[in-house]
Amino acid sequence: MTLAEIIAAAQRLDAAGMMPSKSGNLSLRCEGGFIVTPAGLPYAQMTEADLVQVDAAGAVLRGDRRPSSEWRLHAAIYAARPETGAVVHTHSPRATALSCARHGIPPFHYMVLLAGGDVRCAAHATFGTAALARNCVAALEGRRAVLLANHGMVAVGTTLAAALTLAFEVENLAGQYLDLLAAGLEPVLLTAQELAEAASQFAGYGRAI
Ligand code: ZN
Repeated sequence: MTLAEIIAAAQRLDAAGMMPSKSGNLSLRCEGGFIVTPAGLPYAQMTEADLVQVDAAGAVLRGDRRPSSEWRLHAAIYAARPETGAVVHTHSPRATALSCARHGIPPFHYMVLLAGGDVRCAAHATFGTAALARNCVAALEGRRAVLLANHGMVAVGTTLAAALTLAFEVENLAGQYLDLLAAGLEPVLLTAQELAEAASQFAGYGRAI
């Protein structure tokens, strides 16, 4: 059931154009570690048997494939964030474009509350390295999403469904923000008070943010 959920999420991201050229990866925390998508396999043909279970140090506990090359990033987030149950990493086009300017997403729209108020861009480090994992965790402090400089985006959640929803929303926000900049318009940022009021509206709808 859980494994099927990971495959369904990965294939949904891929079908939506969020995972170009087999990029990106996702994971779900489990007892003693996490279950992560494998390295270098097309999502469309991925099955539950291809998923890899690793411990916190990346040692494979179950599965025949190599874990995603970004397993350190997933491991570092789970270690730093006890409430995190799932991690989604994408090279989705709009968020990645913004990351290549090493620019985060400011609070120009209240939906940034889903990410925790804004989305920072983590300092650059080579993909797959412990340095990237460290930079990601640092920029993620107090937030649920982050851009990785010249690379892509990470969204986390207590559940895989929450992380998936947030990844799509961050891509949407990145697109809106880029459209504003491309039109030559100066985005007007919400004030702390306006954001607080939007947050209490969310609370009133019973929506967790
Ligand atoms: Zn990546």
